[in-house]
Amino acid sequence: MLKTLLERRNFFKLVCGAGNEDPESVKRLVYTYAKAGCKVFDLSAEEEILAAAKEAQELSGMEDLCYCVSVGIKGDPHINKAQIDYDKCIKCGSCYKLCPNDAISEYIKVCESRCIGCGTCAKHCPKGAISMVEKDADVKSVLPYMVSNGVEILELHVTGQDKSDLDYKWSVINECNPKFASICIDRENLSNKGVILRIKEMLSQREPYTTIIQADGIPMSGSDDTYKTTLQAAAMAEIIQNAKLPIYLTVSGGTNSKTAELCSLCGIEYNGIAIGSWARKIVKPYLSRPDFWTNKLIQEEAVKVAKDLIEKSRYQH
Ligand code: SF4
Ligand code: SF4
Repeated sequence: MLKTLLERRNFFKLVCGAGNEDPESVKRLVYTYAKAGCKVFDLSAEEEILAAAKEAQELSGMEDLCYCVSVGIKGDPHINKAQIDYDKCIKCGSCYKLCPNDAISEYIKVCESRCIGCGTCAKHCPKGAISMVEKDADVKSVLPYMVSNGVEILELHVTGQDKSDLDYKWSVINECNPKFASICIDRENLSNKGVILRIKEMLSQREPYTTIIQADGIPMSGSDDTYKTTLQAAAMAEIIQNAKLPIYLTVSGGTNSKTAELCSLCGIEYNGIAIGSWARKIVKPYLSRPDFWTNKLIQEEAVKVAKDLIEKSRYQH
């Protein structure tokens, strides 16, 4: 099914957050977007997160869902967690108010399992009291478990500079032999030329058309629905498209309801779109309610909002 979705350019992936290790949050997201017609879900590489997604799948009654798990190399923001230095903190509350994933409580405590490493809190802290600390996954044990439990895509975020960590994690992914490997790449540390060289080197270990390249504009930046926010994702996709590689091309990083239209205007023939921040933000008012599981009306409203985003993300000729 995955191949068909990609070839028909009908691939929409909900990114629950590579660092989102909160099972209840993932369960609500998967349930809502599955009901709305999403078939592919990007999860943190954690056993209990996969279990939460499968529980949501059962509740939704949707049979044909695909899962992707993401891991990052050292230096990648997706594997970061916020840490507060209380000697510097003045309890101004900015971080609590700005966190997009409710990972900071009103008592200014970070809930690590909810922190997706976006860095918004650290950027806005007036006292420089927040630092981002890496939390690495044990890929050698977790990834084989994921594949043997039905995960079809293993994704590696390769924006960091640590080449030996990249080589190690990429070789583990290839040893796991997933249906598809995915390379999520942006230009934070690499030039346009450097991006293509890195992809080509990684593809030398892959059969043609068994790899998805996820062109990442600005990771985790999709907090509003403007063309400007999605511009870098389209630009990154164009660079990869021009390299004419034997891959499937998807777009992420600042993606929103304008992405399909902008890519179409720019002549980008992408195979799919992955949306994280914006997709989570628009359903948050419904999913964060304590009565979510018992209030059918709220669930229906959330599904309607999600469906609208999936519709707008369809490939436009
Ligand atoms: S933004 Fe910084 S100073 Fe303000 S509450 Fe958060 S950690 Fe403390
Ligand atoms: S703002 Fe981002 S980095 Fe900070 S706690 Fe929330 S999710 Fe984590």
